[in-house]
Amino acid sequence: MRFPAELSRDHCCSERQARQLLVWHWGGPRPPVRKALLEAAPPPPRPEVLRQVPDADGGLRLLFRLHDGAVVEAVRIPLRKPGCFTVCLSSQVGCAMGCGFCATGRLGLSRNLDAGEICGTFLAVRDGLEEGQRITGAVFMGQGEPFHNYDQVLRAARLLSHPNGGRIAAKSISISTVGLVPQIHRFASEGHKFRLVVSMTSAVAERRKELLPVAGRWSLEELAEAIQAVHRSQRRRITVAWVLLGGVNHDQGEIEGLKRLLGDVPIRLNLIDVNGDQGFRRATDAERNDFLDRLGELKVPVVRRYSVGSESNSACGMLTACS
Ligand code: SF4
Repeated sequence: MRFPAELSRDHCCSERQARQLLVWHWGGPRPPVRKALLEAAPPPPRPEVLRQVPDADGGLRLLFRLHDGAVVEAVRIPLRKPGCFTVCLSSQVGCAMGCGFCATGRLGLSRNLDAGEICGTFLAVRDGLEEGQRITGAVFMGQGEPFHNYDQVLRAARLLSHPNGGRIAAKSISISTVGLVPQIHRFASEGHKFRLVVSMTSAVAERRKELLPVAGRWSLEELAEAIQAVHRSQRRRITVAWVLLGGVNHDQGEIEGLKRLLGDVPIRLNLIDVNGDQGFRRATDAERNDFLDRLGELKVPVVRRYSVGSESNSACGMLTACS
């Protein structure tokens, strides 16, 4: 395992001690060892849980206060398999990307979370599980643009997937990006097994620039090249997220753009209904069905993501740590 070696280097301890540290902090597979270590010295504190807001969909939004008073969220989302959950994690306090449809984008960026803080929120969510329940997935789709805090997010993801850490399969950890092209190439070149989710939302250049300010820095062609690089590295479908905005991004121009840019790349499209009150409305059923019909031309799997927790402000694009 590479991770204990890295930990041992950073903490000036042996790899064996580093492995024990992981077991100690995360709760490893051998309870007697864990108990002895816990008695010897307590693990680092979890962030303070300020509030827990359950949702009618079965989700649970947790609001945390960090050591400096910064407030972030995580959302526990039930999976189809009974007793299994995925956790949506924040990577930053606020976000610098300013996407037009996103409540977090209005906050601006306060600071990055470090890997310890990210994992601390994960552990605090895990502490609330009942007997027989477990967390089998994690998504970096809370507050922040994960690739704007690349090193700490990847470090946290490695801890979450480590057999002495969170023990989540790497392929069950998704990292989303709004399209930071250099970081996507870096991700491809480093050969990670984590899933990449690229939020495209429009394949029409001028429209995408209006919706996502980051699109002014890299062209759609450059973004498509970066997505291809990840596909060449991972040899599996890349997930493209599409926040569906009523009356905005569901016309034939979008289909033509997707065909031109990603027609040769195996992708899966995650269709997400816009949430919140940022001046956009949800697509009507007729608009959505029309878009789904048009997407049929692309012959790619389309998954409609039902946002958990729109009533408790815990759905995509609604995490603002203020309500
Ligand atoms: S959608 Fe994501 S990247 Fe865009 S502003 Fe919101 S949190 Fe940031």
